[in-house]
Amino acid sequence: MPFGAGGVCSARSITYMPAMSSIRPWRDIARRTSRQIMVGSVPVGGNAPITVQTMTNTLTSDAVATIDQIRRCEEAGADIIRVSCPDEDSTAAFAKIARAARVPLVADIHFHYKRALEAADAGAACLRINPGNIGSSERVAEVVRAAKANGCAIRIGVNAGSLEKDLLEKYGEPCPDALVESALDHIKLLQDHDFHEYKVAVKASDVFLAVAAYAQLADAVDCPLHLGITEAGGLIGGTVKSAIGIGNLLWAGIGDTIRVSLSAEPEEEVRVGYEILKSLGLRTRGVRIVSCPSCARQGFDVIRTVERLEEALGHIKTPMSVSVLGCVVNGPGEARETDIGITGGGNGKHMVYLSGVTDHHVQDDAMIAHIVELVEAKAAEIEAGTSVSMDSLHGKAA
Ligand code: SF4
Repeated sequence: MPFGAGGVCSARSITYMPAMSSIRPWRDIARRTSRQIMVGSVPVGGNAPITVQTMTNTLTSDAVATIDQIRRCEEAGADIIRVSCPDEDSTAAFAKIARAARVPLVADIHFHYKRALEAADAGAACLRINPGNIGSSERVAEVVRAAKANGCAIRIGVNAGSLEKDLLEKYGEPCPDALVESALDHIKLLQDHDFHEYKVAVKASDVFLAVAAYAQLADAVDCPLHLGITEAGGLIGGTVKSAIGIGNLLWAGIGDTIRVSLSAEPEEEVRVGYEILKSLGLRTRGVRIVSCPSCARQGFDVIRTVERLEEALGHIKTPMSVSVLGCVVNGPGEARETDIGITGGGNGKHMVYLSGVTDHHVQDDAMIAHIVELVEAKAAEIEAGTSVSMDSLHGKAA
């Protein structure tokens, strides 16, 4: 169970959207109803789908490399992409990058308010800037003016690693109260300038701290929340940490947009973000693979087959499912609930299930190409509306 599940909703003053009456109530998540804002053409908050973000790691001044990376992230499914703007060369390149991007871009500003003004003019859909960090009220007013004039949202990003000195002195160390107070201080500066198109993050690399801070903030404000466990680590460690932190919050109904921070390529962050959402039935995209860990009973090499299928099916965006089980112990049961199923048999001859029903056999050597063909055909049928995915029948798709 996620933290406070069951009690979390009733204890809060903010409303949590009850799920539609469901025949599988154990899968229901009551989402906190936040105010909706727009990041370019993408809605964030309210009942909009929870968006997946990532951030480029190329030199922004190298527009070609940055656009290439953005393209790869878009292909992986990123809804919003953040691009760092540490200097004037970066904001100069940003205009070209924003024109080429197919998804809205967030310009990440490092303290210097002039970069925010330049990025807003250069086509940023959102500015990631903490108004309390840029100096005078006049500067905040200038940034807000530029954001309003260009239709930009603002993302306030409080981070336990860079908390204001006065808050550290007051609280002694980064703690949920300190992160939330920092966020409220920054929010107030925007509200004082009559600006309300903002979303907020209170990130920490410590899962307990981040989750507690977000839960507290969710009670205190009605704006959309951007979730993340910052500096989470490498691909495996960071994925586990993010799945626990972000997953726990999402399960409790908190969060409108997510970024998984990994020391890995940004496309991997997008894939992990989607896997977290898919696991909770909050969003779906592409092929959901159900597969066994394999053992001595396997009729084919399950691990290598799954690796090759993941690679070969990366281009499928249609939500659907494939089960890959090494033998009849669990194969038929899983195949019954997936669109395409394969269960290992004897002598290199394996059973193929279509829409949960046994259909035909396939030989070892033809198996991968055959499954890819079946998946492509099924995806085309789903897209054409002539077929539905088993996932939607079993309530596993958002
Ligand atoms: S489904 Fe069969 S091959 Fe796979 S782990 Fe279970 S018993 Fe082993």
